[in-house]
Order: sequence, then C-alpha cells, then structure tokens
Amino acid sequence: MPGVSDGRLRAMKKPLLRIILRLAKLTGLFLLARRLTAGDLRILCYHGAALRDENHFSPGLFMSKETFAGRMDFLARQGYPVIGLDAAIAGLPSGDWPKGATVITIDDGWFGTYREMAPVLRKRGFPATLYIASYYLEKETQVFNVAVNYVLWRAGRQTLDLAEVSDELGGRYDIADARLREELRRRLGDFADSLGSAEARQELFRRLCETLGIDACWIEQERLCAFMRIEEARELQASGVDIQLHSHRHRFPTQSYEAVEAEIADNRRALAPVGNPALRHFCYPSGDYDERQISWLPRLGIVSATTIKAGFTRRGDSPYELPRFLDSERVSLLEFEAELSGFFELIRRCGYAI
Ligand SMILES: [Zn+2]
Repeated sequence: MPGVSDGRLRAMKKPLLRIILRLAKLTGLFLLARRLTAGDLRILCYHGAALRDENHFSPGLFMSKETFAGRMDFLARQGYPVIGLDAAIAGLPSGDWPKGATVITIDDGWFGTYREMAPVLRKRGFPATLYIASYYLEKETQVFNVAVNYVLWRAGRQTLDLAEVSDELGGRYDIADARLREELRRRLGDFADSLGSAEARQELFRRLCETLGIDACWIEQERLCAFMRIEEARELQASGVDIQLHSHRHRFPTQSYEAVEAEIADNRRALAPVGNPALRHFCYPSGDYDERQISWLPRLGIVSATTIKAGFTRRGDSPYELPRFLDSERVSLLEFEAELSGFFELIRRCGYAI
C-alpha cells in the first residue's frame, strides 16, 4: 500500500500542469528526454484493480481495468520494451538493458490484481513481478483498515454510535466530518488490533456494516477489499507472473535483524505453496526502511528491493533501493507519458521534486 504524496510539480493545479506537459510534448521535449534517458531503467508500481467503484473511493490504491489496459497499450504502442525483474537486476552492473526498458511491479496481492490486471498482462505477453504480503492471502478475510475506510466512504452523511458496533466502544461520530471520521478510523483500527485475529476483525467489520445499513455480505462476496487466494496466486505464478516478497504482515520491523528475519521467513513459508522456488526480490512495505535494514537483506537471500521513491535506475545503482513510479488512477495518460519519456526524470535531476 502506498505511503507518499505527490511532489511539488505534480501537486500543482492539474490544468496548469496539463498545459505545461502539452507544450513540452509539442515542442519535442518528450522525444528529447526519451533519447537522453534511453539507457536508464524504468520501474512502474501498481497496486489493486477496481472491481466496482473502488477507484473512486481510493484512486491511489485501486485503478480501473480500463486505465490499466490503457497504460499497457501505451507501452506496447510507444515501443517501451517490458522486461522481467530478474533480467533487469542481471543487467544492473553494466546497464545492459534494451533502450527504454521498463519493469512492471504490482504490490500487495489484491483480488482485483488477479481478476482484472493479470488477463491484461497475459494478453500483451508482458512479464510482471507481484509482491505479496501474505497474511491476508492466508486469512482470506477483508483487509480490515481498507474495508472500514470503504464502508465509511459508502455510508456518506451519517452519524455513527460506536456503542452499537461494540459494547467495548462508545461515542457518536459525524462521518461527514473529516476530522471525526479520521478519529473514528483510528479508534476502530486500534480496537481491531487488540482483537488479535483476522476472524474477530471480520466480525467487527460486519457489525460496523450492519450499523451503517450496508450489506457486508455483498462486499465480502465480491471480495472488493480482499486479497487473492493461494490457489489464485499459484495460477498467476504458473502463467508467468513472478511472485515475490513483501513481508507477511505488511511491515518491516526496525527493532532487530531477528524480527525482520522472522517476518521474511513467515512470508516465504506462506508463499511456498505458490510455487516460485526463487523468492529473492523484496518490496519495502509502504516504502519504509532505513540504512541499517538494507544491510540485512543480502543475509536473507534477497537480491533486490524496490522503494516508492520516484526516479529511474542507472547503471551501477544499488539493487536495494530501486526507485519506482507509482502509477494510479490519479495520474493522467499525459503525466504517464511525461514520466515514461524521462521528462519528469530530467526535471528531478535538476533538483526539483515531482
Ligand atoms: Zn504494500
């Protein structure tokens, strides 16, 4: 799940940004940028795909199938060679990549990735790496915090009495008030953490839905806020998607090497039935890590790690801090083109945050 905000340029008013990018494209700056950055590696990052309206609820996390297919069409049409992560890492010391080489990575393991994104990749014959945080793969329940946010979004303008959700909670919250809604999320999250099992959290989620008058069965059956199952992940691996490590509980402990070792061991154990004998690439959960933790990765048999820092990878860069472009429903096709061409990258190299 992502954890960064857009930089200064991307945060500017969209119409103004659109005018600047159109001018840059018209005057040949995209083409020039593509030539200047042709030898660099582009790594794209995706998360979930919407099954219904989740791209409107959380456009940073869920992308519509149409937008994703449009991006893949763009890569094919514009001749960006999509290569696998193994090939990208093998070429890292010498920069031995085809011009404009692009890697597709997808985080977390959402059911929508299985149902909506994988067929698009298969149709194109594009390799991709899917980093799975395996806790919810095993539990097969809704991802609690995302599911709660989704039903609060769907609930619209309502007042919620927490005592109706649980005897151990209390307080009335106006859901339309952003500050109160945030406090409500935090309290439900803290309470859910204290419950200690995914099944108990699922029951809490059902009571919340009932109180809000929302059909929890429908959300669960559609698997809107759920991960894929182990057999679905196995099917993806067999069809050419490279399934890799993202920690078991979507966290990368800072306290000790032993805590990280246990987290990765749990991730490997849970992913073993998926059938990839080479679990050796890692994606930092929420992009969080520090210098000390990087030195632990080779000891864990991990040969590369991706971040959520924007940028291109250049010959000789560290394989343990690979930058990626976080594509999402918030990003227009023109912005995507600006990123892929290297136009944004050249601006970043001039010292501007994007
Ligand atoms: Zn994640």
